[in-house]
Amino acid sequence: MTRSISILGATGSIGASTLDLLRQNRGSWKVSALTANSRVSELAALAREFDADIAIVADELHLPQLREALSGTGIATAGGIAALCEAAARPVDITVAAIVGCAGLAPVMAAVERGGTIALANKEALVSAGDILMHAVERCRATLLPTDSEHNAIFQCLVGNRPDDIRSVTLTASGGPFRTWSHDQLATATREQALRHPNWDMGAKITIDSATMMNKGLEFIEAYHLFPVELDQLRILVHPQSVIHSMVEYRDGSTLAQLGPSDMRVPIANCLAWPGRMDTPMAPLDLAAIGELSFFAPDEERFPATRLAREAAQSGGAAPAVLNAANEAAVAAFLAGKIAFSQIAVVVEKTLQRSMPRAPTSLEEVLEIDGNARVWANELMEHV
Ligand code: NAD
Ligand code: MG
Repeated sequence: MTRSISILGATGSIGASTLDLLRQNRGSWKVSALTANSRVSELAALAREFDADIAIVADELHLPQLREALSGTGIATAGGIAALCEAAARPVDITVAAIVGCAGLAPVMAAVERGGTIALANKEALVSAGDILMHAVERCRATLLPTDSEHNAIFQCLVGNRPDDIRSVTLTASGGPFRTWSHDQLATATREQALRHPNWDMGAKITIDSATMMNKGLEFIEAYHLFPVELDQLRILVHPQSVIHSMVEYRDGSTLAQLGPSDMRVPIANCLAWPGRMDTPMAPLDLAAIGELSFFAPDEERFPATRLAREAAQSGGAAPAVLNAANEAAVAAFLAGKIAFSQIAVVVEKTLQRSMPRAPTSLEEVLEIDGNARVWANELMEHV
């Protein structure tokens, strides 16, 4: 049976892992929409390879180039945010939401409002608009399949159990490239060092988030929205080998964990085949070769990001959207060489100290808060 799929953010790391899984079983998949921000030639090549129905470039300035690259193929083209949302709302069996940042929120919402099945990698959408998005999921009877490896692990560990029986949920964290670095060393961390993740090969923004531990902070908020838990039931545990992807403890003292290689094709395959399973090219997990698994409590002195995220989640309202936007702005500034590594968390903390806008009640209000928080963060960065 052929299943239809759209991939939002097809040219990114998650997009590439998804397409790699489709390549192994081409006959089973019909690709509908593929989207990218601006990498037109890559997008066009993928659209041709997978014979997509439509290719969309978010940055409208690149549309003429995309049209030219796909002329004569019969593949439709479109550009701009409205076209991106239209593409996200196309009726398909599964939509993979793999745009990075709050830029993915409106397309995710469009897919949710159609009542579709969405494999959600775009965690920033849930952080910024968690309540609004989850209400829409319920109202529109959409299905969100958690694709982030930790959340996919938790999703698997919850099967067959009752929410009331959960004692706690533990998100594991690799600790990133600076796990053992001192406070002083962290102040000197360069872009190149921060971009070298020990276990995972990912896009630049999430790789920096892993180095600051903000990735785990965002995932903490993501888990709160996705699963039937209170904030005080959520834990973070540093586990440098990234073999256990997360765990759920039940009230009888049983802890269920999901283990696997640190390769996103595993959780993506879980979403694509859900509620079944599919083959992937992963070698069997060789625990004897791995030898030892180790665990450490997170150090919030050196890595304040998880504390900032927890506090933003506790405050609720606009705070998580402000946290996310300030972090996106600070990470972009760090990647552009404008601020030092240690200043990322400082910028986020200072932005959160401004008087908070009221809790957003619509997608438009979230996007307004997001835009304002970026301006505040950028203002702060002019003075650091
Ligand atoms: P990436 O930077 O490799 O790719 C991002 C994709 O989004 C690209 O296709 C890009 O064209 C598109 N994009 C970027 N800005 C856009 C904009 N303004 N409008 C429209 N499209 C835009 O990122 P990634 O590592 O693949 O991560 C994607 C999402 O998945 C992120 O939210 C990330 O946190 C999450 N995630 C990634 C991984 C991973 O292993 N890479 C793991 C877990 C979760
Ligand atoms: Mg993750």
